[in-house]
Amino acid sequence: MDKPTSKTIDLHCHTNITDGRDSPERMARRAVELGIWLGISDHLDTEMYLKNDREVAGYYDRIRSLSVYTGIEVSIEPRLHVSTDLLDRFDYTIAALHQVDGQSLFHPDFVCRNIDTIIGRMIDHVDRFLGLYSFDILAHPTLIPRAWWIRPETVWSEKRLEQLVDVGIAHGVAFEINARSMTPLPKFVEIAVSKNARFSVGSDSHRIQSLGKLSYPHRLIDAYQIPEEWFFFPKSKI
Ligand SMILES: [Zn+2]
Ligand SMILES: [Zn+2]
Repeated sequence: MDKPTSKTIDLHCHTNITDGRDSPERMARRAVELGIWLGISDHLDTEMYLKNDREVAGYYDRIRSLSVYTGIEVSIEPRLHVSTDLLDRFDYTIAALHQVDGQSLFHPDFVCRNIDTIIGRMIDHVDRFLGLYSFDILAHPTLIPRAWWIRPETVWSEKRLEQLVDVGIAHGVAFEINARSMTPLPKFVEIAVSKNARFSVGSDSHRIQSLGKLSYPHRLIDAYQIPEEWFFFPKSKI
């Protein structure tokens, strides 16, 4: 195979440089065994990972030496705290919402009076951050605070889904279909397809065992017959 397809690519995974378990070298070898095209996209996050230009440059150099695409998952924060010249070096960049107004989406005790207001704030955060830099991909759209994970479809109104689709399209990002969090919601994909949006595929693996396990994205690709040319693929060769 000389170039990836939507069914043979995985553009989202983590290594032990940030919160993954396995080394980048091990992840890259596993991708070869599986016959998939892999992008490594470790976290850039002010408080925890790849906190400054020096750490990002070191990460980039290590990933670039492997036969994988160089990616980075940048947490949506009030501002971008590394130089954009550094981000430009990567084969692709992912923006990802992990917190809203300082509260982590993963915290079990996320405090909120009205979830629709929070969803509105989340969309505002995404909109503002995508204006700071030209990102290629928006990670796990429609991911919400953990307390609502059991019934996410009851939290997102069609109006809010459409707002997020419109924000992403306005900023030119591809919407990631994420296997780990099973996001976005199918209804989001339906709306995005009706507006000719772009997409990408990621397992969000944090260990070699889940690399290439992409049944959720592949199912949605088939269900909505998303055309191959609507997918984001890095331009560089690996
Ligand atoms: Zn993420
Ligand atoms: Zn991730």
